[in-house]
Amino acid sequence: MSVTVVGSLNEDVLVSVDRLPGRGETVVARDSALAPGGKGANQAAAAGVLGGGVHMVGRVGDDPAGDRQLAALASSRVNVSRVLRTIGTPTGTATIPVEAGSGENLIVVVPGANAELAPEDVDVPSVRSARVLLLQLEVPLPAVEAAARAASGTVVLTPAPPAPLPAALLQRVDVLVPNEHELALLADAEPGDRSPAELVQLARRVTTGAVVVTLGARGALVVPAEGPALLQAPPPVAAVDTTGAGDCFCGALGQALAGGAVLADAVRQAVAAAAASTTGPGARGALPDEETVRDLLP
Ligand code: ADP
Repeated sequence: MSVTVVGSLNEDVLVSVDRLPGRGETVVARDSALAPGGKGANQAAAAGVLGGGVHMVGRVGDDPAGDRQLAALASSRVNVSRVLRTIGTPTGTATIPVEAGSGENLIVVVPGANAELAPEDVDVPSVRSARVLLLQLEVPLPAVEAAARAASGTVVLTPAPPAPLPAALLQRVDVLVPNEHELALLADAEPGDRSPAELVQLARRVTTGAVVVTLGARGALVVPAEGPALLQAPPPVAAVDTTGAGDCFCGALGQALAGGAVLADAVRQAVAAAAASTTGPGARGALPDEETVRDLLP
């Protein structure tokens, strides 16, 4: 197997409202819908749709929501045999009211079974032998650290949701993939817009390893461990929903690195895949296949 993801699986509860509620206020929704989610599972689904050969390691509850998450991943060509089921704890959920006119949202996450992922759950062959291991921070840090220690391949970490990173974990990470906001937090700097040169300086404050900073509609900045930085702009697309674009980016980056691409080339493919993913609704509504990405490459 080439790509393994250790991370979260959530059920997203999308609630469409005319106006987001204020503190203490009750609003009546237009409708609601369930969608598969969780940063880890979204990254796995993106990598699976692009090339298959993907393993997911995590935890769901022994409930219908858990069944739905496993089925959704399996339909995206992800092997879920190492997703464990926690008895007596529900599958994680993210409740997301979305304002119909503006698209603005609020997110309340209940970690549920994700919070039960333990270091011993991740010391498995698919983690040890993966060519690329994708990690995020929606499961307990000890499990993330154990996975990074067990890995023999390339370790890619998305530092989200933001949290301080122990030095020993950073040392095990080959490619760190923050957005601008997460990079500023890790570097103990004020949030705000920065030039590529300033972002390189921040990245160097955080780690001596490679950093790829995602920059929304501006694409991504590659800061290799050695050599000059490179800004990779996205191909022109009609973006309608950027939810999960960062997760698609990481899934595609992992798949390209597992296929033997050097970092700059893998980022070129990830930028194209993430751009394609913004052309449809939700985190997994428009995950591109290999051919779609190839057609978007310059
Ligand atoms: P996050 O959602 O984690 O904050 P970003 O917003 O930086 O991450 O988006 C991740 C990647 O998705 C970007 O690096 C870029 O490649 C792609 N992307 C995001 N928004 C757009 C957009 N409007 N047009 C094209 N690509 C986009």
